[in-house]
Amino acid sequence: MADIKIVLDESEIPTHWYNVVADLPTTPAPYLGPDGKPVSPEAMTRIFPPALVEQEMTTERWIPIPEAVRDIYRLWRPSPMYRARRLEAVLGTPARIYYKYEGVSPGGSHKPNTAVAQAWYNKQAGIRKLSTETGAGQWGSSLAMAGAMLGIDVRVFMVRVSYEQKPFRRSMMETWGAKVFASPSTETESGRKVRAADPDCPGSLGIAISEAVEEAAANADTNYALGSVLNHVLLHQTVIGLEAKKQFEKVGDYPDVIIAPCGGGSNFGGITFPFLADKAAGRDLRLVAVEPASCPTLTKGHYAYDFGDTAGYTPMMQMYTLGHDFVPPGIHAGGLRYHGESPLVSLLYHEKIIEAIALPQLATFEAGVMFARAEGIIPAPEASHGVRAAIDEALRCKESGETKTIFVNLCGHGHFDMASYDRYFAGQLDDFAYPQEMIDAALDRLPRVDAA
Ligand SMILES: *Cc1c(COP(=O)(O)O)cnc(C)c1O
Repeated sequence: MADIKIVLDESEIPTHWYNVVADLPTTPAPYLGPDGKPVSPEAMTRIFPPALVEQEMTTERWIPIPEAVRDIYRLWRPSPMYRARRLEAVLGTPARIYYKYEGVSPGGSHKPNTAVAQAWYNKQAGIRKLSTETGAGQWGSSLAMAGAMLGIDVRVFMVRVSYEQKPFRRSMMETWGAKVFASPSTETESGRKVRAADPDCPGSLGIAISEAVEEAAANADTNYALGSVLNHVLLHQTVIGLEAKKQFEKVGDYPDVIIAPCGGGSNFGGITFPFLADKAAGRDLRLVAVEPASCPTLTKGHYAYDFGDTAGYTPMMQMYTLGHDFVPPGIHAGGLRYHGESPLVSLLYHEKIIEAIALPQLATFEAGVMFARAEGIIPAPEASHGVRAAIDEALRCKESGETKTIFVNLCGHGHFDMASYDRYFAGQLDDFAYPQEMIDAALDRLPRVDAA
C-alpha cells in the first residue's frame, strides 16, 4: 500500500540552512539608510544580534544550524509531507498532489522555525528582551513560545483591531509569558503620537513595527525581531524545502510545480529555495507564489526601493511594494496583508525565475473548505491561497490528462481563524481587487533614491 504520510527521523532534520544568495544570477541590492548610502552592519547591530546581521549579508551557501536550535526543532520537525490522495479522488485528477504540513508546530504555522533561531542568537548575544509586532498574531505567538523556551522576555505590539478581534491569540502569547500591547500603545513615542492625533486609531502593521523598532533602538538590553521579509528569516525557513527534498527522494517522485502562499515571502522562500539549484541546472520546475488580489504586491506592485514600515524607521529595501503607506483592506488572510515583499523573492520574480498569481478571497475559502472535508486539516486562510492554486492546477491536469506532481506548502492550520470561516459561511465575505489607481498613486510617495 502506498503511503499517505511521508515522514523522516529526527536525525534527518537538516544540519544546515541553505542560503539562496550563493546561487542567485545577480547580487541583491544593498539596504539603504536615510542618507541613501548602504546601511553598515554596525548600524544594524543596534537592533539585531551580530550573528543575524552576518546571516543577513553572507554569500556562503550553507549555514550550520546550532545544535541547541536543532534540539528545539525536534519538538515538531521534521514536519510530515502528505500525499493528498483523498483530495485527488474528490477532484478526479490524474495529478499527484503533495503537501508539507507546517501546522504541527506549537504555534500552528511555519513561523517557529525562525522564531527559535532568532531567540537563540539573541540570547547568545546577551540580549534579555525582544520587541516585535504582530498583525494576525501568528508571529507574536511564535516568538512568545521561543522566548519562553530560551529565557527571553518578549514584548509584542499587536495591531489594535486584531488585539480586540483575536483574544485567543493574545491568550496564547500570555500563556507563553509575553507582554502584549494594543498598538498604537502608550509605551512608545510613536504610539503616543498616533494616539494623540487619533484616539480611536485601529492600528496597522506599519505603526506596530515603528513601535517595536523604537523600543529596541532605545534600550541596550532589547533587540527587535521580524517574522518575515528579511534574508535571515527566509534562510531559517529553508528547513521546510530541505526536508521536502528528502521526502520526495523517499517516495521516488519530484515536483513539476511548487506552490506556496506569499505574504512577506518566508514560507514561499523556505519551501522553494532548496529546489532552485535543480531548476538552474535545467530541471523543468515551476515555482508559484500566491498572493491575495486585495494585496497584489508581486503581481501589481512597483519594483523599487521602499521602507519596511509606515513611519520610515527601517532601511529602504529594493523590493516589490504597494507603497509603505498602503492601508490593507480587511481581508481575512491577515498574514498576507503586507505592502512589501522579501527582497530575495522580489529579485527572483524580477528575473522571471519564479511566477506569481493573485487570487480572490472567496475562491480561497471555498478551497479551504474543500480541503478540510477531503483531508481533514482546516487550513489557515493564508494557506488556503496555496491550496486554491494547487486545486486549480490539478483541475487543469484533469482537462489535459497530464499526470503532474503538484507540491504545496500547507503553512499553517486555521484553528484560530474560525471566526473568518464563520463569516464565509454566513456570506459576509466579498472579493476585492486592490484598485490600479491606488497602486499608480503610491508610486509618487515612494522614497526618492538616486541611482549610484
Ligand atoms: C505569517 C504567515 C504567512 C505569511 O508570511 P510569509 O512570510 O509570506 O510566509 C502565511 N501563512 C501563515 C500561516 C502565516 O502565519
